Amino acid sequence: MKTEKEVNRVSAAEDSHLWNAMHKYDPEAKAMVAESGKGSWFKDENGDQYLDGVSGLWCLNVGYGREDIADAAANQLKKLAYFPLTMNHKPAIQLANKLSELLGAQYQTFFSNSGSEANETAFKIARQYHIQTGNPTKYKFIGRYRAYHGSTMGAMSATAQANRRVKYDPGAPGFMHVAPPYSYRSLYSGTAEEKDLAAAEELKEKIIWEGEETVAAVIMEPIISGGGVIIPSMKYVERVAEICKEHQVLLIMDEVVSGLGRTGEMFGFKHANGVTPDIVTMAKGLTSGYMPLAATSVKEDVFYAFKQEGKDSHFRHVSTYGGHPAACVVALENIRIIEEEDIINRVRQLSQTKLEALHDLTEHKNVGEVRQKGFFIGLEMVEDKDTKEPLSEAKIGEIVAGCKAKGLIIGKNGDTVPGGNNIIMIAPPLTSTEDDLDFIVDTVNSVIHSM
Ligand code: PMP
Repeated sequence: MKTEKEVNRVSAAEDSHLWNAMHKYDPEAKAMVAESGKGSWFKDENGDQYLDGVSGLWCLNVGYGREDIADAAANQLKKLAYFPLTMNHKPAIQLANKLSELLGAQYQTFFSNSGSEANETAFKIARQYHIQTGNPTKYKFIGRYRAYHGSTMGAMSATAQANRRVKYDPGAPGFMHVAPPYSYRSLYSGTAEEKDLAAAEELKEKIIWEGEETVAAVIMEPIISGGGVIIPSMKYVERVAEICKEHQVLLIMDEVVSGLGRTGEMFGFKHANGVTPDIVTMAKGLTSGYMPLAATSVKEDVFYAFKQEGKDSHFRHVSTYGGHPAACVVALENIRIIEEEDIINRVRQLSQTKLEALHDLTEHKNVGEVRQKGFFIGLEMVEDKDTKEPLSEAKIGEIVAGCKAKGLIIGKNGDTVPGGNNIIMIAPPLTSTEDDLDFIVDTVNSVIHSM
């Protein structure tokens, strides 16, 4: 006989033993059980269809249901199911070579399984690099407030969103933060670019005050993703790279979200001129989420420090599953699709011809700013445009739920204090059709205008 709970169950997830990553108790999130996906759309267990306007967790760059990717993984699993990278296998070699080509300079890649791990790997490389090159006191890392770099202790410590940290602090020692290049809410004055450049000078001050002989690296995303789709002037990115060079501080570019085409360049930092980061971290779009895989790509001159004969230059770091052969062939296939289907040009064009219409939303009383780079959009939602008071979580929740009721999944982020999640986030698969993009624009428009 069925228990009362089983009789009333509407979803396989209810009362199940799965601990999902919902932010709070959210019956809506708990009830959603996905079954299948094709293109930009997925179906839940009841057969209802949704357009995934956030690409899962901003990772499904080539969309759901690519059989070419599934076949590549299956074939590899049949051929060589697993092999550790304490030795070598061909898919990992081919992928590392491909990443170096895409990055546009000589990079050596260490593979792991998630964005958090890729950043942890970068931190350990940076510290050891300075030891190997005679600067053992350089151990500190500087990130920016509002940025997110992952969930593990080191990556969380680089993250500067108080809401996410408060229950788990203190984090790892040696991590510190400066103001983000957030011209909409900046302590500095002037044009957007001037405000961002002032934030870069704040970073320089920080390095000087801390003592440049103690600072190992700066970690930054070219566009702050989880902290609210904060898009700086690219002059800021160029200036930060310059400051790092001036002070022998390594630049770690977190491309976990912006890498592999999301912003209309293969990597977000390519929007800036002449920036070649010392370390680039990637995950998400690297496999379009089809397999867990992350990369920490290290410029040749930094890697060289790990090849010194007669010194203990061994990098004491290993990942059982990092660079799994099936994940590497999936990444290679994913990159082949991005290149052969000219997806980056597509993003550039359609982000203008189709998604540009979202900018009209700035006429709405609750939309303080529309930020967009490629298929990466943030709507800064406010109660009042003069005070810039963030729109309440309840109203943001209504917008997200309103879109979902019409078959569109969008996100909310920012996750900071004060304000919570007042940024509406849209990041559809890069393969979304023109109709898909029209559907996104029409749905978001109608829901916001019905407020
Ligand atoms: N860096 C950035 C910029 C991210 O957005 C994320 C995840 N959202 C991470 C790192 C961590 O990635 P993962 O969840 O794969 O550990």
